[in-house]
Amino acid sequence: MTTIVRFAPSPTGHLHIGGLRTALFNELFARHSGGKLLLRIEDTDRERSTDAYTQSILDAFEWTGIIFDGAPVIQSERIGRHQEIIAMLLASKKAYRCYCSSEEVVDRNKKTVETEILHAVKYDRHCLDNNEYQEGKPCAIRFKLPFTSGPITFIDLIRGEVTIDAEQLDDFIIARSDGGPMYNFVVVVDDHDMHISHIIRGEDHISNTPKQILLYQACGFSVPQFAHIPMILGSTGQRLSKRDGAVSVLEYRQKGYLAHALINYLVRLGWAHGDQEKFSKQEMVQCFALHDVSRHGARFDQDKLDWLNGVYMREMSGDVLLSLIVRDVEPELESKTLQFSMQQRIKLIDLCKDRAKTLGDVVAMVIGFHQAPTQFNTHDREQWLRPEVIEYIPQLIKIIDSIDKFDVELVSHAVKAYAHQSNTKLVTVAQLIRIALWGSSVGPGVFELAAVLGKQETMKRLNALYISAKNE
Ligand code: GLU
Repeated sequence: MTTIVRFAPSPTGHLHIGGLRTALFNELFARHSGGKLLLRIEDTDRERSTDAYTQSILDAFEWTGIIFDGAPVIQSERIGRHQEIIAMLLASKKAYRCYCSSEEVVDRNKKTVETEILHAVKYDRHCLDNNEYQEGKPCAIRFKLPFTSGPITFIDLIRGEVTIDAEQLDDFIIARSDGGPMYNFVVVVDDHDMHISHIIRGEDHISNTPKQILLYQACGFSVPQFAHIPMILGSTGQRLSKRDGAVSVLEYRQKGYLAHALINYLVRLGWAHGDQEKFSKQEMVQCFALHDVSRHGARFDQDKLDWLNGVYMREMSGDVLLSLIVRDVEPELESKTLQFSMQQRIKLIDLCKDRAKTLGDVVAMVIGFHQAPTQFNTHDREQWLRPEVIEYIPQLIKIIDSIDKFDVELVSHAVKAYAHQSNTKLVTVAQLIRIALWGSSVGPGVFELAAVLGKQETMKRLNALYISAKNE
């Protein structure tokens, strides 16, 4: 049997990282076994679904490189097929019309059941024997449970045997009184028609699975295999919230995360292959197995994501990073750094990437460096800008002016020779220059910074620091 899996997002919001991880696990599982990965847009909730969200989900997949086989299946276009199966279930008495309003069901429950908690409300089969079609009267369609007690068991490929008692279920609604079919029903019909062999989805769907299995059986469909992936948890073990990073996938792009870094981070969230942390996509496909997915929720770790992003950024060249920055993070970079040439921007990005977590950090550094610094922090002023140290500047400017070829090596050579000759520690002179150019004693290599700026601008910034320090 060919492996066919699917990812089935509802376009009622942007794709979040939990969804992306589910799609990724599906993709890896499919590719590992030479199978197919399909996409189904579950847009039956017409009020909350929008085309803009569908497009945003597709964009997120394009960015992260998740590739689906064939065009997406649009659930709302399959309504005719859903109605056909409902008619079949009605005809075979596996489903029945229900004319009760939800208030009536709740009211009757109050009389018979001690609790008033809404989710404990069960349908009392009021319409089971009294459900003839009544012209003009709206009715919901309920699935008739084939048994009302006893275990329903399935094997989850991650969690092992899962059993629930049918007693926890009732004759649930498969189509609302406005005719709209419900999630548990449509998903079964669609997964069957799409020949899905394995359903790999978030653990939040595990309570739906017994209902869906009963529907598969009632429709005479073969039951696929199931795997429920544990949730992504926040830093304190609670459900992931916006504060922990539950932002949409495209927000990560905008903040300057690299698509592969995010994918690599997510694959390790709840899945391990020994203690390997870095994976190419090809390695992920080779190594991925569902039985290595953890049964426990995995905590989202922002520091680790930042670390991986830094690792991948450092592996990429400045010109590639520049094109990603302009595409994803700051399209205006050029106009915001007009005094730099393209070459200068690329060199700077190469310098800044070592100290950045994201492309957003790199952008902030490049734009910051474009202007000569005007403010210096107290620590730097007390430690590195003491009056006697400041007095090195005029001499330094002369030395810099005399350098013919203003490259890293010659600048470094000249400054080192000056420090030696004036009996000063190199760090004292280097920090002075770094503060003049970068605005802080913490920053990239000082000779590299000077070489990027060029002779004139380096002298100008040193002079500006001198004047500002003298005027204090
Ligand atoms: N449309 C459902 C959701 O977005 C997923 C359905 C499924 O995977 O069975 O949560």
